[in-house]
Amino acid sequence: RLHNTILELKGNIRVFCRVRPLLPDDSSGSEGKLISYPTTTEALGRGIDIMQNGQKHSFSFDRVFMPDESQEDVFVEISQLVQSALDGYKVCIFAYGQTGSGKTYTMMGKPGHPDLKGLIPRSLEQIFQTRQSLLSQGWKYEMQVSMLEIYNETIRDLLSTNRDASRLENACNGKQYAIKHDASGNTHVTDLTVVDVCSTKEVSYLLDRAAHSRSVGKTQMNEQSSRSHFVFTLRISGLNESTEQQVQGILNLIDLAGSERLSKSGSTGDRLKETQAINKSLSSLSDVIFALAKKEKKEDHVPFRNSKLTYLLQPCLGGDSKTLMFVNISPEASSVGESLCSLRFAARVN
Ligand code: ADP
Ligand code: MG
Repeated sequence: RLHNTILELKGNIRVFCRVRPLLPDDSSGSEGKLISYPTTTEALGRGIDIMQNGQKHSFSFDRVFMPDESQEDVFVEISQLVQSALDGYKVCIFAYGQTGSGKTYTMMGKPGHPDLKGLIPRSLEQIFQTRQSLLSQGWKYEMQVSMLEIYNETIRDLLSTNRDASRLENACNGKQYAIKHDASGNTHVTDLTVVDVCSTKEVSYLLDRAAHSRSVGKTQMNEQSSRSHFVFTLRISGLNESTEQQVQGILNLIDLAGSERLSKSGSTGDRLKETQAINKSLSSLSDVIFALAKKEKKEDHVPFRNSKLTYLLQPCLGGDSKTLMFVNISPEASSVGESLCSLRFAARVN
């Protein structure tokens, strides 16, 4: 494999671009005319050109996945990164892009099509398999899962079932889901449900529960999942019983809110608040990654506190943690403006 070189070559931040195929429901069939891929050896699989109003804009990333590349093709390129969470690294993988560009397809896959599963289920399968194979070397791992949604700068627990007294009390005095980082870099979110897991099956069950919880919230609060960030977190603690070596890794997989620009002038009330919250957290994320990417300038202030998302993930974004951003692109002619915005966002942090 040409590009299976993740994270070894430069820094700890990678950007992959993925262009989804044109779908039967898409408005126009001009994919081929507007998006093209350079074929020179050094740009192969890394470059993307996009035409807008007769002008060509060229971008290059660590990897560009073309529409015909499968879920398996994508996973091959990230499996090492996922594996590093078992070695004690803190890993974040984001999917960024406008609604309909393929973020959820990339992260979760296509519902009802097990062969098209995305990188969350694939990552878990790999982790539990590796865990099994490391048993013979004395490694024992404990794993914990949490899943939350950030909507309008508010955290919602997607695995919560009970409403106990402390939870209610915390909710009343505004302490619910407060984010706390301790000195050793661990994050604690008050009242957030954390579940011990030891098989892929258990996690699949929790993913279903989270999806159900998201869809219920949607009707109750009139929100749409595309307007919130979904954060899946797997905490891994490993202990080698013969060498007494210990590792603590974290894998965060994040399906971001749609990045489309909603016209501010047209939005009012809740919709305006929602738009502002999304803009704020996506631009904070960009600022944080941008600041980290040029970290040779140490005096640069990294603005983690500007949004819930970046504050929550702070311990997993700095230091020797590893970050991968997918920028998902729709090939539709009507999406060229949004696609360019996404590519520019990604180019800034690359
Ligand atoms: P988003 O989460 O960014 O809003 P989705 O992941 O829901 O977008 O994708 C929109 C539609 O495109 C879905 O029907 C999805 O199944 C399809 N799709 C996205 N990416 C691909 C792909 N690489 N191959 C085939 N279909 C895709
Ligand atoms: Mg989605």
